Amino acid sequence: MELRLAILLLALAPAAAGAETARGTVFEDRDEDGLRDPGEPGIANVRVSDGRQVVLTDRGGDYALEIGDRHCGLCGACGGVCPRGVEVPNVLRALTYLEGYREEDLARAAYGSLPPGRNAAACGDCGACLVACRLRLPVGRLARRAHARLAG
Ligand code: SF4
Ligand code: SF4
Repeated sequence: MELRLAILLLALAPAAAGAETARGTVFEDRDEDGLRDPGEPGIANVRVSDGRQVVLTDRGGDYALEIGDRHCGLCGACGGVCPRGVEVPNVLRALTYLEGYREEDLARAAYGSLPPGRNAAACGDCGACLVACRLRLPVGRLARRAHARLAG
């Protein structure tokens, strides 16, 4: 018998300071409508991955993936969005060099090459970040971290 599986992403929930968790359920989608209906059981021990880490579903088919500190995907989609002129893709690119690639010299060079007023200095006193990330990264927090670690 062929088993039809589906994954239901339930929610993104804060897990700890600076982190988020993606929660969901893998279940037997008996009517193949992509929705979990009554009588469609969760499935245990299924490997679920975000491309970086792998977790197993529990006895009820539920899983939780920590996603808060992923790195910028370098897609450039959020360029030109910040109302204060911060070049967010380049700021987060530098942070990825530092924290993802462990290339501090490259990270400092990239951050230091940003024109005046384009680095993340302006993020320090910005209340709520208006830049939406396609990967749902916490842009304001990451930009502030980039400035703290790479300015000067
Ligand atoms: S926190 Fe976001 S909106 Fe505010 S200055 Fe920084 S990038 Fe721009
Ligand atoms: S912060 Fe998000 S939207 Fe912006 S460049 Fe990185 S992955 Fe793309």
